[in-house]
Amino acid sequence: MMRVLAIGECMVEIAPTDTVGEFRLGFAGDTFNTAWYLALCAPDVSVSYLTAVGDDAISHNLRAFMQASGIDDRFVQTSPDRTIGLYLISLDKGERSFSYWRGQSAAKTLANDPDRLDAAMAEADVIYFSGITLAILDAEQRAVLLSSLRDARRQGKAIAFDPNLRPKLWVSSEEMTNAIMQGAAVSDIVLPSFEDEASWFEDATPEATANRYLNVGATTIVVKNGEAPVLYAEGSQIGEVPVVPVSNVIDTTAAGDSFNAGVFAGHAMGMSLHNGITYACSLSREVVQKKGALVDINPAALLVKSV
Ligand code: ADP
Repeated sequence: MMRVLAIGECMVEIAPTDTVGEFRLGFAGDTFNTAWYLALCAPDVSVSYLTAVGDDAISHNLRAFMQASGIDDRFVQTSPDRTIGLYLISLDKGERSFSYWRGQSAAKTLANDPDRLDAAMAEADVIYFSGITLAILDAEQRAVLLSSLRDARRQGKAIAFDPNLRPKLWVSSEEMTNAIMQGAAVSDIVLPSFEDEASWFEDATPEATANRYLNVGATTIVVKNGEAPVLYAEGSQIGEVPVVPVSNVIDTTAAGDSFNAGVFAGHAMGMSLHNGITYACSLSREVVQKKGALVDINPAALLVKSV
């Protein structure tokens, strides 16, 4: 059985309902969304999530939600003087905007104990983190996390990384791009999104994005590009998987996160990278047609579509 450990921050999501002025509580966060879709689509994969939460009611609710979703919470640490971060989605004439309260979130302490990180990684085959995971940590804890990942990779674990560039979470774009390349340098698999990469690294093409990550030692690069084909590089081999665009995009939240889950699920099911990407496309295609980060989908129907 493949064991995946995802590392990062899960927040409370406050999202508008169809009734003006009424909101619904949920949980979401990039790496968490990936863990959630993976647990849903690949019940044979053991999915663990490493983060830190508080000791209050909402933190307990998050743990209960993880357990109910099939995500192992043994590596969730409690920071009693903190709680989980929160974001609010506002709708103005169909346009979504986000307000965040995460400056003091418990997840910022997730890498305060190297032994804990090493112990969690020892029980995984694949370890997944993102540029947001790196962004929420101070420089010291970021170095601790990168060092644990480097050691885990040396021990034969596969390290997977989504750069998920979020300039607002960084002091400067230089700090962001430097940290992202450090993250890629400890990784085997990098799953970037071309639009963001082009903005912040000035990549002219998805091939340029793939080459930049291959050059720091990653071996498998999968470049997402919205409706455009997914470009992948497996060592020196390059391939493309076309995307079947949907005419009615409802909400692209978690498109990339669910896509990454699809790549991991495909791998766990023994698919080639090419077929795994096809599977990932059919999963994220469902996700963009529904509102919210964590949407209701039928994993069995996806398999039928992607073969
Ligand atoms: P991110 O959410 O990280 O910005 P993308 O926008 O590149 O990532 O989308 C990730 C994946 O979601 C794409 O590779 C594609 O498979 C799927 N996707 C995104 N937009 C569409 C769309 N309009 N129609 C069908 N699939 C889509």
